[in-house]
Amino acid sequence: MPREEVLDLLQKYVIPYRVTKRKGFRLKDFDPGDTGGLQMEKAEATELLQAGTAWLAEEQDMLYAQDRWSLLLVFQAMDAAGKDGTIKHVMSGVNPQGCQVFSFKQPSSEEIAHDFMWRYARRLPERGHIGIFNRSYYEEVLVVRVHPELLERQKLPQPLVSKRIWDERLADIAHFEEYAARQGTKILKFFLHVSRQEQEKRFMERLEQPEKNWKFSPSDVRERKFWDEYMHAFEEAIAATASKQAPWFVVPADNKWFSRLLVAAATVEAMVSLDLAYPKVDAAKKKELAAARLALSRER
Ligand code: ATP
Ligand code: MG
Repeated sequence: MPREEVLDLLQKYVIPYRVTKRKGFRLKDFDPGDTGGLQMEKAEATELLQAGTAWLAEEQDMLYAQDRWSLLLVFQAMDAAGKDGTIKHVMSGVNPQGCQVFSFKQPSSEEIAHDFMWRYARRLPERGHIGIFNRSYYEEVLVVRVHPELLERQKLPQPLVSKRIWDERLADIAHFEEYAARQGTKILKFFLHVSRQEQEKRFMERLEQPEKNWKFSPSDVRERKFWDEYMHAFEEAIAATASKQAPWFVVPADNKWFSRLLVAAATVEAMVSLDLAYPKVDAAKKKELAAARLALSRER
């Protein structure tokens, strides 16, 4: 199939899950079990994903050579939604030299002594690079919103902590993304949308299968009690920060094969839209190359 046709197909699958408009966004319009009408055997999905990651690798090579744009992929989700596996599979073909993954956990004392964006801003990808945020500045309006004691730890001056704080933070995040976009960072934000039932199933697997035990943390089960609060926080965050230059993707995550395909498709589609190309060789450069070739051949 010619590339243009594949691209049309990718767009067809990606568009229903892409959120660029702030008005009217409702999480309940998205079903975690959705597979875009696709039904696939595991082998078929794997093959398709491999084609996607190979294409991604080609695009990354040009991104790196061109050294102008950068790409930031933000992953947010409830526990066990598959962030780690998605990152592992989707990025399996890319050159590690041009790619960096940062996982953000509870902030250190040094980090918490700064403004909330500090630790994330310093990890933005360099030009030509792909940066992956496994959790991100969105935690500041998700976990911190759900657990007010975390906000207290941030030691903000009292007059600045009002009921408006979440709207203010969301506005700051939207502005920060606009700023990064104007600097040439293409931002894609993925919310891996898993259902409460599927999460329970995956926790059970972590408890029952010895090789998955290490993934289990008792706090994950405690956080389930705050499910509705988290969903509300996610909805508000997506609705306040979706934009053309930094779209959200609400990725149905109950079927891992589908979420991985969708993330790969959205990433390839975004990179193709940057129209990446290898740097052009101008006349002076051509002369330089010819001279070098001559010099090398004379060594023989
Ligand atoms: P895993 O898949 O290994 O469980 P994880 O991303 O869940 O990966 P954990 O070490 O289990 O990693 O959890 C990190 C925890 O840090 C999460 O509960 C997350 O909500 C929390 N966290 C991240 N950023 C912040 C923040 N800014 N303030 C407070 N807590 C945060
Ligand atoms: Mg965890």
